[in-house]
Amino acid sequence: NNIQVLLICGGGGSEHDVSLRTADFIQRELAGAPDIQLTRVTMNENGQLLDSDGMLRELRSDKLLYSASGSAQPVDYVIPSIHGYPGETGDLQSQLEILGLPYYGCGSEASKICFNKITTKLWLTALGVDNTPYQFLCTNTAEETAKAKDALQQWGTVFVKASNQGSSVGCYKVSDEEALEQALNDAFRLSPYVLVEKCLKVRELEVAAYTYEGELVITAPGEVCAPADTFYSYEEKYAEGSRALTHVVAEGLSDGQLGWIYEAAKRAFIGLQLEDLSRIDFFLTDDGEIYLNEVNTFPGMTSISMFPKMLQNNGHDFCTYLTALIRAAV
Ligand code: ATP
Ligand code: MG
Ligand code: MG
Ligand code: MG
Repeated sequence: NNIQVLLICGGGGSEHDVSLRTADFIQRELAGAPDIQLTRVTMNENGQLLDSDGMLRELRSDKLLYSASGSAQPVDYVIPSIHGYPGETGDLQSQLEILGLPYYGCGSEASKICFNKITTKLWLTALGVDNTPYQFLCTNTAEETAKAKDALQQWGTVFVKASNQGSSVGCYKVSDEEALEQALNDAFRLSPYVLVEKCLKVRELEVAAYTYEGELVITAPGEVCAPADTFYSYEEKYAEGSRALTHVVAEGLSDGQLGWIYEAAKRAFIGLQLEDLSRIDFFLTDDGEIYLNEVNTFPGMTSISMFPKMLQNNGHDFCTYLTALIRAAV
């Protein structure tokens, strides 16, 4: 009576490698669950599923996972362990919804909305949650670039961001026009829309928001501290020798600030109809103002990642949490 869980990792996006590391964590955690039988496959850039021997596997509409030789095994539940395309973007979730297979994490629509930094902001504003001031560019033309230059002039330093990336891919900190043009070109190569945000950061705070025994849980904020000469870039997140520090609980926040963050996270989780897990990121400025930066529907779970640490610090064992979700869904 084992539950057959299919762990899909990798994917065709820029966060392929990070997705494998998250899958390693999930696999290790689920090894402690006697009633769960895990099969891991890696998705390549063509969307094909490969097993650990590099052999092709295929998930078909009969909810069976086929091997190249034609043998098949049942699948009861899927864990889409993919940051970015096509997991965090909601595309894989759409397929699973069509197949009628339950899976871990947010639905296809919430995923799609949150992975796009522009739709996220439109929703947050509609939900009454303050988010980082920004300009929105929909083409890389002189007319649109002029808006970016105005933003740079007004704000001094800006962040140029490809609208649909994670792990700080396509995210550039810019303080002069030459760098701005370069960043816009690079960002437009990665995504059809680009944001230019006011550089705000003084402190970076993150909460884990997740479902435990049917209840929404929001942790106290943790903090990430990037080195002063840079930001929380891809290298500072994952490269060896990263100088970024993380604190599972941020110190020195007032009750008012903690309450604001809690309410904003709750409003975002409920309003965006998130499910199972998310990591919601905030900026706290010198003046004590707080802005919601972004909602991550499938946060990283590597050894440096905040989401699993914040759960654990909240007294919630990851294996217990995930197996409860799996058992409830199948
Ligand atoms: P994640 O890996 O969390 O999914 P991401 O690629 O979605 O990251 P953001 O979180 O939007 O990108 O930005 C990456 C980092 O860039 C932030 O953690 C922060 O260090 C810096 N940053 C982004 N926007 C701003 C801003 N408006 N002001 C100051 N710093 C910023
Ligand atoms: Mg993100
Ligand atoms: Mg991300
Ligand atoms: Mg982020």
